Amino acid sequence: MTERTAVVWVHRNTSTCSACRRDALYDDSHHYTVPGGPTGRPSEQGCGARFEAIGSARIEIGANRLAQLRPNLPIRKYVPR
Ligand SMILES: [Zn+2]
Repeated sequence: MTERTAVVWVHRNTSTCSACRRDALYDDSHHYTVPGGPTGRPSEQGCGARFEAIGSARIEIGANRLAQLRPNLPIRKYVPR
């Protein structure tokens, strides 16, 4: 069985999972939780992919900040698609 992996993308106030594109917690080891957002929707279960890297498309969230959030994860450069 192949483990599913994902990048956790850090945004200004939220983070998302690259595998399923739903909200995520940047400090989860795997995508276990979809946190309730500002819309008040209830938390749901994440897709379970393992976060193997962290990244951000935001210029103000640089490598130093990402390394603070997840010191053990490599930093992935954001590629729009
Ligand atoms: Zn996910």
